[in-house]
Amino acid sequence: ANSNGDSVSMQRCPNGSGGARNTNTYAVFSPSYDGANACGGTPTSTGTPTNTATPTATGTPTNTATTTATGTPVNVNYTMGNPSNAVTNATTHPTNYLMEKPQYVLSYHRDRGQAIWVGWHLDTTWLGNTPRQDDFRADPALPASWPHVQDNDYSGTGFDRGHHCPSADRTLTVADNSSTFLMTNILPQAPWNNQGPWAALESYCNNTLVESQGKELYIYMGGSGQGGSGSNGGTTNTIPITGGVMVVPSETWKVIMVLDAASGNDVARVTTSTRLIAVRMPNTQVFGNPPGPPWQNYRVSVDEIEALTGFDFFSNVPVGIQAVIEAIVDNQLVEDWESIPDQYTIDELKAEREYRKLQERIFR
Ligand code: MN
Ligand code: MN
Repeated sequence: ANSNGDSVSMQRCPNGSGGARNTNTYAVFSPSYDGANACGGTPTSTGTPTNTATPTATGTPTNTATTTATGTPVNVNYTMGNPSNAVTNATTHPTNYLMEKPQYVLSYHRDRGQAIWVGWHLDTTWLGNTPRQDDFRADPALPASWPHVQDNDYSGTGFDRGHHCPSADRTLTVADNSSTFLMTNILPQAPWNNQGPWAALESYCNNTLVESQGKELYIYMGGSGQGGSGSNGGTTNTIPITGGVMVVPSETWKVIMVLDAASGNDVARVTTSTRLIAVRMPNTQVFGNPPGPPWQNYRVSVDEIEALTGFDFFSNVPVGIQAVIEAIVDNQLVEDWESIPDQYTIDELKAEREYRKLQERIFR
């Protein structure tokens, strides 16, 4: 028999492997790649979040918007999709390793020493009054044998410890804010990129879209290419870390889906009128002293970022809708005052400036 809770001791995998089963964990689902019923191999497309399932039936959807085919809630931070089909298997996917945290989801590239994308959800439920924790530290969730970027690896490099998911986007609890200072959420970002138009875009998302205009956002950010230019000048390709290197990206990019804040299935609310914002900026000092030029000058289509990265953003949205909205370059008018950095952002910029001043005293 194959129903939930039955004692089935000789259930086999579809390919004929397997055999003795832990009947305590046996459920109605066919043998899966995890737990005692392992069928071997890597997770297949059947483990990828889909938009075909409905939210779990345990009441009001909170931070779970969709489910996998097996009924497992999907981390809300990648409700709209897993852009690189990252997999939680360090052995088979060392350069596309899925790491899920309550506050954000990312794909880590062992040999770049950084995420290739970080995804997070932003609405007012993530926002509170927790002060900036400033506790930059190595991420203990990385496989133990991999190089771990440390906070002090950035010393003297001329690059800011740039957040993917900003500190200002996770201020409800100390744990939430602290999570953004894990080094897996950080990339070497040119100071006048990070502190200039990049910071202004972060504030536009957080203050204007979410807090003032009642929007909720699904955001992905990453660095791509190799070779940036920080405050030391020249081109830096890599930064040494214990056991490896951290690549300095040549560009930073971000894609943002803007929805009216509402409960329910967010994937189902995406239409051909849904606003997407994408930007692509050089990871250099070309912007000049902050605030620098408006972030809006760097808008491109999501299709352009998909071509740049090879990823498929918002892949849980029907392809016909993706095709329309991902081709558009956002041109909505943004007033200057809508992108003024908030206190959290100002604190970040101040912290990075002071950090680098300290380094200069130590290293020069
Ligand atoms: Mn930043
Ligand atoms: Mn797409």
